[in-house]
Formats: sequence, C-alpha cells, structure tokens
Amino acid sequence: MEFTEFYERDALAVVGGAEHPMEVCLVRVETSDGEVGFGEAIGYGSPDSVAVTVNTVLSRLVAGEESTSIWRLWDKMYKATFRLGRRGIVVSAMSGVDIALWDLAGKELGAPVYRLLGGEARRMRGYITGGYYRPDKDIPRLLEEVEEYVRSGFKTVKIKVGGLSIEEDLKRLSALRERFGEGLEIAVDANNVYDFSQALRMGRGLERFGVIFFEEPVSTDYPELSARLAAQLDVPVAGYETAFTVHEFRELISRYAVDIVQADAAWNGGITEMVRIGVLARSYGLPLIPHYSAGGIGFVASLHAALTINSPIIEYHLRPNPLREALAGDAIKHSGGFFEPPAKPGLGITIREREVERFRRAGR
Ligand SMILES: [Mg+2]
Repeated sequence: MEFTEFYERDALAVVGGAEHPMEVCLVRVETSDGEVGFGEAIGYGSPDSVAVTVNTVLSRLVAGEESTSIWRLWDKMYKATFRLGRRGIVVSAMSGVDIALWDLAGKELGAPVYRLLGGEARRMRGYITGGYYRPDKDIPRLLEEVEEYVRSGFKTVKIKVGGLSIEEDLKRLSALRERFGEGLEIAVDANNVYDFSQALRMGRGLERFGVIFFEEPVSTDYPELSARLAAQLDVPVAGYETAFTVHEFRELISRYAVDIVQADAAWNGGITEMVRIGVLARSYGLPLIPHYSAGGIGFVASLHAALTINSPIIEYHLRPNPLREALAGDAIKHSGGFFEPPAKPGLGITIREREVERFRRAGR
C-alpha cells in the first residue's frame, strides 16, 4: 500500500465563546487505491504549525509505507522527530496522523477501530464538562446550565474551579449539591491553577461536597507535588491532559501523582499512544478516563481507545459546536447519558466536507 497523497486541512472552530477558539488540524491520508482516512490534531493557538509539521515532516516519513503497520509507523515518526520535540506541536501532529491511519486500517479491514484492537461493542457512559466562568454567569445561571445537562440524560458533570476564590468556588458547588442532591455526580477541573497549599485547601473543601475527582490541581510540571496532594486528599486527583506520550504519563502514573489518568487521542499521541497509556495505567491499578475539549474526530478517536482499554466513562461537552457536528456528528450518538459504540468501519465518521470548508481558517 502506498500513500499517493498526504495533506492536511486546518479548521477553526469557535466554541464556548470567541475568547476561547478551539482550533484543530484536520489530517487526511489517502492510499494508492483511493481509500481515505481522517484524523484530527489539536492546535490551540497555532493550527498552522501543526499543519506544517504534518506536511513537511511526517508526511514523508509515512509516504510509501504499508498503511496498516501503525505501531511501527508511530515509532518511526517518533524516532525521526526527537530533535524537533517530545511534546506539543510534534506529538499533536503525530496524533492526527495516527488517528487517520487507524481510520484507514479499519476501513481496509472492514471493522470499527476498537474491534481491531479487541475492544467491546458496549455503550460508554459520558460526563459533561461545563460551568465555565462568564461575567454574567451567576449561581442561578450555573444551575440552569447544569439542569440542561441533567435533562439531556447525563448524571455526571464537571465544572471549572480556580477562576474565583476558593470560598466562591465552593459556594457554586454547594448550590449544585443543594439543587441536585446526591443523585448528581460532580467533578471539578482547576486547569493547573493552584500552588500546593491552595490545592490542598481546595481539595479539603471539595471533600465536603463528595466531589468525585479534582482535575489538574497543580502544574503538570510537578508530578511530585501532585503525588503529595493525592496522598493527602480523599478526593481522587485526576489528570493530566496537558501531558504528552506514555513517557510523560509514566512520570505521573508511576509516582501515583494521579488517581485517575486523563489523556486525549487528539494530542497525547493518537489512539496508539492512548492505548499504551491506558495499559500502563492499568498496570498501576489506575483507570484512564479520556479528555475531550474540541473538534469531533478527536472525541471519536478517544472513544475507540476507551472501548479498547475498558474505560469507565468519557468526557464530552454539550455546548454548541457546529464543527464537531460537521466532522463527526454522525458517529457521536448519545442517549440516557451513554454513547453508542461507532458502528461503521474505521472511526465510523462521515465528514460533511462542504460544511467543514466553512471553518477553514481565513486566508488559506
Ligand atoms: Mg481538563
């Protein structure tokens, strides 16, 4: 099998408000017999740099190769780029290529990706992330937002913390608990904002409200601090979506810096690497719960990995995201808080190419 064509298209999705553009790079791989696979790489702030890496570095490494030799091609890309980077742009670009190769392999072999990997065709429980800060989002508005998630069938939500004082954030949690009772599972995400003592104080506050996990309490750069925190708190520490590849996750997992491992196929190294991270996590007795924040193919890719490694739950957003719908809407089906396993070969997505074109970055 030869790659006769290998190129990218990048797209700009604006979700959750114009101040937080969620930019993804769409990767398209075509084989010599005309089969096409799609992948997605996260490119927050610089999708162009991800696209350049795909086009000028990775494409020549996989061109002419057997497209189903994915684990070997992953190693080839990783070894050839060690001077360029071991996280960030290079690994994100590799993630997009890896996902596209799995899509292609599934189509060629006639099975959904998770079936190729030995995963189970089961419904996957989801949780909804929201509760983002906005100047007009007072507690009644936060409750309205979460009410909508609950009405959609989801019994687990995650809200932001760290943007207000610890006391104010705990008031938001108190209001949620009062309104929805113990029937709603609540997680929180600090996005690396606290120092150790703040995180400890916040964590002790979270324990009063039965929070199911405390995500990215401190900087990903300090696994020792996260491990100290995890040892001192009853609330499980989760993270770190901002880590890359099994090598960085090994630092977190082997030190028990987390109780719950969170990775994202669209930037942590693709489906291949998420499976590796999940297997490593399992060997330390830890579950992997996929992260999700943007695009659509990335979510579906993480869902295939989650079905493979038997994850208990997966992250999702219900905020409007027309790019997600155009990229992967057909493969993302949920009811009663559970996602259906994708049914078609490959990732199971059908790209609505004309709609996706609307999101192509201006000037390209
Ligand atoms: Mg997060």
